[in-house]
Amino acid sequence: MTRAWSILPDEWKPILKDRGLRPFRADQILQALYRDYISGWDAATTLPKDLRETLKAEFPLTPYKQLDVSESADGTRKLLIGFDDGNAVETVLIPASGRFTQCISTQVGCAMGCAFCASGAHGIVRSLTADEIVAEYMAGRAFGEITNIVVMGMGEPFANYDATMRALKLINAGRGPNLGARHITISTCGVVPGFARLAAEGIQFELSVSLHAPNNELRSRLMPINRRWPLDELLAACADYTHATKRIITFEYTVIGGVNDSRACAEELARQVRRVPMAKVNLIPLSPVSHRPDFKTPDEQTLLMFLDVLMKHGVQTMLRRSRGKDADAACGQLRLRHMS
Ligand code: SAH
Repeated sequence: MTRAWSILPDEWKPILKDRGLRPFRADQILQALYRDYISGWDAATTLPKDLRETLKAEFPLTPYKQLDVSESADGTRKLLIGFDDGNAVETVLIPASGRFTQCISTQVGCAMGCAFCASGAHGIVRSLTADEIVAEYMAGRAFGEITNIVVMGMGEPFANYDATMRALKLINAGRGPNLGARHITISTCGVVPGFARLAAEGIQFELSVSLHAPNNELRSRLMPINRRWPLDELLAACADYTHATKRIITFEYTVIGGVNDSRACAEELARQVRRVPMAKVNLIPLSPVSHRPDFKTPDEQTLLMFLDVLMKHGVQTMLRRSRGKDADAACGQLRLRHMS
């Protein structure tokens, strides 16, 4: 048994052949899956009934349930997607000026334990399989055509590399959903071996790196991963990635009031970021999380000062505004609410 949404379009023909099925059915199967977006094989009426029965048994669609939808005033929707073992992840849909961006999860919980992040507050339960990640996309596209994907939900994509990459390749595939690679952004907290692997794929996915601190002392306090792969190694991996792929890297910097928001931090960040060619910075004001009431959103003046320092150093910087706060869509809180 292999789940249909884990099979890349080009793999269908050989797989059908292996099972003694007619390879020419692959095209009809792909049309049913990714043009008609069937929600079950019974709906694939272009296929003969006996084949539909075989597909149901041997290549089932991933069973998932939409357990909850919450909509925020800005139009952001957060879905809670449950799988057959009772675990659930969240995916967020963000409409914005001609775009419809989906934020997807790669793991149930997270092992990385970043201090400010709700997704890791209870550790990791398990990684998602490729077809479960695709199922999130399927649940999302029921609300409208997805134009962009950001892998910024729960979990660390480079800690679930194979499944994440398979799901993204499927969503990117021309005979699959055909979402352009440049419209898909992978975000990592800095699992260094993932950089060379991604570069070797030769696919033009966008890469974001969660930095959040400009030196090892502070970064190791906020992000335990920094003890395994400290800044020097991380930034070297980023520079190698940029050289190998000629692609830019975007550094994410969550600004936490009184923690990493000083002028000195901004100066130091500018120096670090300039070690990586063509790097950009996204500043994101912290979304408060209930398990760390001591972490506050910085005030507006501080954010503008921080932005100004980076710009004066010639670092291309964007100040991002958090979306979907009233739907708890910023950082793993919907699932937390369900757990408690
Ligand atoms: N594990 C990946 C992707 C998931 S998190 C990564 O670390 O990049 C997506 C982004 O949201 C990361 O930059 C993460 O640090 C940030 N984030 C987590 N909690 C946050 C919070 N409370 N406020 C603002 N950003 C947060």
